[in-house]
Amino acid sequence: MDRARITIFDTTLRDGEQSPGCSMNVQEKLRLAKQLERLGVDVIEAGFPIASDGDFEAVQRIAASVRRPIIAGLARACSGDVDRAWQALQGAAHPRIHVFLATSDIHLKYKLRITRERCLEQARDAVRHAKSLCADVEFSPEDATRTDVPFLCQVVEAVIAAGATTVNIPDTVGYTMPEEYGQLIRTLREKVAGIEKATISTHCHNDLGLAVANSLAGVQDGARQVECTINGIGERAGNASLEEIVMAMRVRPDRYPYETAVASEQLYSSSQMLAEITRVPVQPNKAITGRNAFAHEAGIHQDGMLKNPLTYEIMTPQSVGVPDSRLVLGKHSGRHALALRCEQLGHQFERRELDEVYRRFVVLADRIKKVQDSHLLELIQDVSSGHVGSAEVTGSQGRMIPPAAAAVTLARAVSAPANSNEAHPAHVSGNVGQATLLMPFTDQHSEQEEYLWGV
Ligand SMILES: [Zn+2]
Repeated sequence: MDRARITIFDTTLRDGEQSPGCSMNVQEKLRLAKQLERLGVDVIEAGFPIASDGDFEAVQRIAASVRRPIIAGLARACSGDVDRAWQALQGAAHPRIHVFLATSDIHLKYKLRITRERCLEQARDAVRHAKSLCADVEFSPEDATRTDVPFLCQVVEAVIAAGATTVNIPDTVGYTMPEEYGQLIRTLREKVAGIEKATISTHCHNDLGLAVANSLAGVQDGARQVECTINGIGERAGNASLEEIVMAMRVRPDRYPYETAVASEQLYSSSQMLAEITRVPVQPNKAITGRNAFAHEAGIHQDGMLKNPLTYEIMTPQSVGVPDSRLVLGKHSGRHALALRCEQLGHQFERRELDEVYRRFVVLADRIKKVQDSHLLELIQDVSSGHVGSAEVTGSQGRMIPPAAAAVTLARAVSAPANSNEAHPAHVSGNVGQATLLMPFTDQHSEQEEYLWGV
């Protein structure tokens, strides 16, 4: 079956960067733009050149070194903005000027203080000017979802006649509902003369948590470009999340027979890079890229997962670039999951030994919410030495399955009382009484690195 191709327009560097705490410098934007190119997005909105010299430079540098995708620069509907955007895009292999102007009465009356007639004229003139410079012109009627529909149709028709090749329909304030947004796209397709000459685009904000649902509804009703951001960052509650849109289409082609050029295996690293650059962490339960997106704690889930991942997994972690699904060890975990984790840490147990490890594990898990690998290793040590004495510890080490990981020292002393200087990590390596165990490289880790457990 032929699937319609959806253009992915990434605005992480423009709309996303406008979110509080997410500003990036030129170097950081360039680094992220290169990752977006690897990810396979079709359009990168690199910035708003007239907004600042930094934005101008970022657009210019990205245009010069990121060659495959279209590079878009934003401009208000006036010649000064359009000229500045065009100047920044000079070195681009595939430049696009993105012009916007609000069209809702509330914006016209209180923000712009212009009439509808003036708005229509200004939109048409700005697009015509942009078109005289650049073949690829996008127009956005800001606050489209709160614009009088016949007037919106009039504006869209005028800008297409003036040369716009993409018309973007922003739900600027995150107000629309999926059926309503789909209906709006359908109306434009039915009422606007010349609509077939332009690509219709979605741009949805997440104020009611519906940005992705609204974007998908738009696509179902004929939109062929989606504007979105990595991790859904953006003004206020954010923009539609790129990774969620891409994976919704990939996991449910029966409902969404569309395809994108995104290399989904790059989603996780793109998300991590953005979080690292902005120092804004991804919420743990964020779909697709959150730390817990592929974690299973409940015993029955873990058991099912181990028997066949399809029981609880609708997509593999690998398909979005997450190295492995993480079985979180907590009080709801079962014996099977515990045994597997022990094996991954290099210890195989007989049934009787495992019973003892499991018994102690449950007591511990009752006290602390999440059992870390370091806790588990301590517990394994205790069981080994408690049962059979120190000589057997060596024996237990002899059964270790060395994972392809570096040998690091495990300081049991790390959790020793504070009055012991052994508690200081700086003293760990020289301690007597610590055991050297083979364990995955990332065992002693920060929250971020923790997600990479199982690499
Ligand atoms: Zn926006």
